[in-house]
Amino acid sequence: MFLDEDHDAHEAAELTKQTLVDTQERMGMMLDLMPMGLLIHTRQGIIFGNQEAARLLHVPQNEVVGKHFLDFLSTCADEAAQQMEEAFHGRISVEPTEAEIRIATGEVRTIKLIAGALPWEGNPVVQLLLQDITDLKLIQHRLHLLAVTDELTGAFNRRHAFNIGHALFKEGVTASSKVALAVLDVDHFKRVNDTYGHAAGDAALKALTQSIQTLIAAEAASGMTFARVGGEEFTILFRAMEPEAVLEMCEQIRHQIEQRPVLSTAGTFKITVSIGIAVQTPTDGSFDTLYSNADRALYEAKSTGRNRVCRDGEKQHSSRALTAT
Ligand code: GH3
Ligand code: MG
Ligand code: MG
Repeated sequence: MFLDEDHDAHEAAELTKQTLVDTQERMGMMLDLMPMGLLIHTRQGIIFGNQEAARLLHVPQNEVVGKHFLDFLSTCADEAAQQMEEAFHGRISVEPTEAEIRIATGEVRTIKLIAGALPWEGNPVVQLLLQDITDLKLIQHRLHLLAVTDELTGAFNRRHAFNIGHALFKEGVTASSKVALAVLDVDHFKRVNDTYGHAAGDAALKALTQSIQTLIAAEAASGMTFARVGGEEFTILFRAMEPEAVLEMCEQIRHQIEQRPVLSTAGTFKITVSIGIAVQTPTDGSFDTLYSNADRALYEAKSTGRNRVCRDGEKQHSSRALTAT
């Protein structure tokens, strides 16, 4: 009788133990197969790393334990290091942070990371959840470039120029340095298309873009943004630049374009541009006002003979006269 009871109890205990082992194994397997990197970390180093974490860190899984996650971080990952430190002080974090890690191949990858304290007794233990977002970041970057770039010329597009313009204008309302704006329009561009064809016209717009981008790039620490705002109309935003320097830069641009031959299958030709400039004043209500002022100056440049730079509010700046000296 007693023997039977002992036997049953023993069997029940064995069954419970086996169930526990099974559960533990299943849990381990689940953590291992999680589609997210998981590291369990003490101050001394990693005590568990799942398959995805090993793949992400480019370390064989059996070599993950004992390593320290901070050793993988590249130099600009202060936020991640801080989040980990806070986790060691008991913080259960839910806000992810981004960090760059350097893997064995020397390649830098971007990861999303959540570090949180595990509520275990004794030696503080931190759980790190990792996700490789390098490819996602790259796609994001490409999409952003697409959203701000003009397809034909590769210059920034109108939307981007206006976003920057509005922001600079706002900055300029309180700051001592004001924003300046130039609007450029190709002279008699219709004739170019009519004479050499639309493809040659496109080549001219690309050549113009290249000239201006080269000039802008040559200006050390220039705060200029160049964009195509429509057909054969372009704009340049100048940040923290004296009006005289803006005028000089525009004159240089005008001159450079005038000099540059455009090559096309239908023949080689040259184009000229007219440029209107406006500088933010305390009475300008918005960036749109500034743009209209520059447009007015452009109209003046067109109506006084084209191939010249005019500044709004000032009488005629004949660029031809300037370059002739
Ligand atoms: P103005 O000196 O007064 O500016 O004369 P314009 O001929 O340049 O001005 P108009 O507005 O009469 O003509 C602009 C031309 O620009 C007409 C249009 O076909 C051409 N255009 C606009 N966008 C493009 C483009 O992307 N490629 C080409 N090839 N031509 C374009
Ligand atoms: Mg034109
Ligand atoms: Mg035009």
